[in-house]
Amino acid sequence: MSNLNIDSVKARTFDAIVIGSGISGGWAAKELTEKGLKTLVLERGKDVKHVVDYPTTNMYPYEFDHRGEVPLAIQQAAPIANRCYAFREDAMHFFVKDKEHPYIQEKPFDWIRGYQVGGKSLLWARQTQRWSDFDFEGPGRDGFAVDWPIRYKDIAPWYTYVEKFAGIAGNKDGLKELPDGDFLPGYPLNAVEDYFKQVLSTRYGGSRHVVSARCAHLSKPNQIHIDQGRVQCQNRILCQRGCPFGGYFSSNSSTLPWAEKTGNLTLRPFSVVHSVLYDEEKGKATGVKVIDANTKEEIDFYAKVIFVNAAALNTNLILLNSVSNRFPNGLGNDNGLLGKFVAFHNYSARISAEYDGLKEYKTDGRNPAGGGYIPRFRNILKQETNFLRGYAAGFSAHRSMDRDLSKIGNDLKNELLNPVLGPWRVGSHMMGETIPKEESYVALETNKQDEWGMPLLKISMDYDDNDVKMKADYIEQLTEMFTEAGFTNITPNTASQAPGLDIHEMGGVRMGNDPKTSLLNKWNQLHQCSNVFVTDGACMTSTSTQNPSLTYMAFAARSVDYAVNEMKKNNL
Ligand SMILES: Cc1cc2nc3c(=O)[nH]c(=O)nc-3n(C[C@H](O)[C@H](O)[C@H](O)COP(=O)(O)OP(=O)(O)OC[C@H]3O[C@@H](n4cnc5c(N)ncnc54)[C@H](O)[C@@H]3O)c2cc1C
Ligand code: SF4
Repeated sequence: MSNLNIDSVKARTFDAIVIGSGISGGWAAKELTEKGLKTLVLERGKDVKHVVDYPTTNMYPYEFDHRGEVPLAIQQAAPIANRCYAFREDAMHFFVKDKEHPYIQEKPFDWIRGYQVGGKSLLWARQTQRWSDFDFEGPGRDGFAVDWPIRYKDIAPWYTYVEKFAGIAGNKDGLKELPDGDFLPGYPLNAVEDYFKQVLSTRYGGSRHVVSARCAHLSKPNQIHIDQGRVQCQNRILCQRGCPFGGYFSSNSSTLPWAEKTGNLTLRPFSVVHSVLYDEEKGKATGVKVIDANTKEEIDFYAKVIFVNAAALNTNLILLNSVSNRFPNGLGNDNGLLGKFVAFHNYSARISAEYDGLKEYKTDGRNPAGGGYIPRFRNILKQETNFLRGYAAGFSAHRSMDRDLSKIGNDLKNELLNPVLGPWRVGSHMMGETIPKEESYVALETNKQDEWGMPLLKISMDYDDNDVKMKADYIEQLTEMFTEAGFTNITPNTASQAPGLDIHEMGGVRMGNDPKTSLLNKWNQLHQCSNVFVTDGACMTSTSTQNPSLTYMAFAARSVDYAVNEMKKNNL
């Protein structure tokens, strides 16, 4: 797919450039190419072709040199990535080696990155929930950030649009705080998850729910998915290796091959975008400067419109690094707010327990992306706690085989051949909204550069008092809910962890109506540079509790539609 022989200005000129090929960049590329624009996608990492570049996808456990564990030398080269649950022997090649990609932690922050064609779309856990008006109206109502320039009705048709193409499994649950989508059949909850759902419904009068986790899996593909070359998810749950069935949505299985089929896509891996080029006379961006990752050669590419989709913090880095006489502090940064009001999700609390009932049921359920999801129930209609906003939570129940592996010889053999099914174990993890603040920021450390001459990113954000109170409430409420359900051995886990492992960093280039207090308008377009759009997590004004990637997809599709219409009217 790559084209490495581009040498003349003409050959380096496109209608559109997309920076980054992950979830949001893949969507921008699909939409731009489908609308007939010759589009260059620049990706700093290596190419990963669907199926052929998934080296571990069909390996048996005994075929791995370290039976799934990560060798010490690799752990040491990736001490931060190593904290991510998915950094295992079968998927570690999709994570960056931290030592090769340094950054400055002014405060501890675990920055989890996947630098390759497809970005983190290969690694994600595929949880996909729509935001509601409780989220878009939140900053205005609670006064903790600028008002979102859009409401749910503005983005709802675009959620439908991306859901149909990506394939989202889910049930119509009819909850205002978690709008229903255009779903493929949802996966059933297992017996204990369903039991807990009933307990909450009875005990809390319909105000707390467990729903089947909505996820980007083809539970029953439609023709549009088969046309992408994808088939039904086989529930083998080896997704982070890359799925040869295309059972889950990734850029590699879905949007990028679709864009390629239009004949309008040029994908250039190993292309580190250094900055966006700005022409003072035209008052517009004209292209981007790229450092070839292999040769370190500088190359400029040109286009009429540029989509920055390098994932939230790298998008901030690129824009901060895009300096000119007009924009000495970074592209579009007249108000000095670029890089500020960054935030993340608070995943730092968990709780587990056991359940002695329903022993007649043996299965774990068939949701390939986790069992249940507890939508946010705090402070929805009115402020009712001593902290702002709220949290959602994962909830799942499983039984595993109890085997005594301390035995030897025939005893061990018997133990392995005749395992006994253990008790039901239940668990939940918190997914808390954090508040974007001006003192939470990313900035450039200009006197320190990486191997490709990019300034290092300095990251400074942390939990605050609101997060601490929210975490205490989560433990209290989940303990109460577990107790009501008759669960035993309830064990909270609030071990401290640095922000970042939620892998939902957002903000820094936030949307808003007022150019004095925001960087992007309601179309994800830079207020001060109309042909540059940002549709990844950097655009987010607040963080909500929902997983964010579905919203990035919807923003990307909506924003491309607007940009192409504006181009047709010669407004860009
Ligand atoms: C283990 C894990 C589980 C997750 N689970 C979920 C989940 O369940 N639900 C959910 O919504 N989200 C989840 N996420 C987060 C999700 O993966 C991200 O929100 C999503 O991938 C963001 O899309 P993106 O396009 O902004 O960034 P990415 O997918 O990260 O893509 C960005 C791309 O830009 C490239 N790039 C960066 N800098 C440059 C540069 N200077 N020049 C050129 N290219 C550049 C990168 O190499 C990368 O390929 C998870 C992530 C991980 C790792
Ligand atoms: S569970 Fe589904 S998406 Fe995941 S690897 Fe298996 S078939 Fe692919």
